[in-house]
Amino acid sequence: MTYVITETCIGTKNTACVQVCPVDCIYDEGDHYLINPEECIDCAMCMPECPVEAIYPDDEVPEDMQHYTTKAAEFDYSGIAPGFGIN
Ligand code: SF4
Ligand code: SF4
Repeated sequence: MTYVITETCIGTKNTACVQVCPVDCIYDEGDHYLINPEECIDCAMCMPECPVEAIYPDDEVPEDMQHYTTKAAEFDYSGIAPGFGIN
């Protein structure tokens, strides 16, 4: 399992989730943040921090947001560093 950032992050991007993630697996994709599912340890700490409820466990992502799960899984994280303000 992993956690997934969805649409409401767009336009908010306040980095609250990034700041609490213990394994630095949240990356700035541009429009919104992405959680690398291969690095996420499913601790759930990010979820309550999000002011716009953009973050879901992957088995609870709403039907109309499931392309964010696919995007996070297929994204190439190799070229960017996790976190904010450094990409
Ligand atoms: S569930 Fe935990 S490890 Fe995964 S992105 Fe959120 S804070 Fe990071
Ligand atoms: S806490 Fe929510 S809105 Fe803020 S960066 Fe993370 S997912 Fe986006």
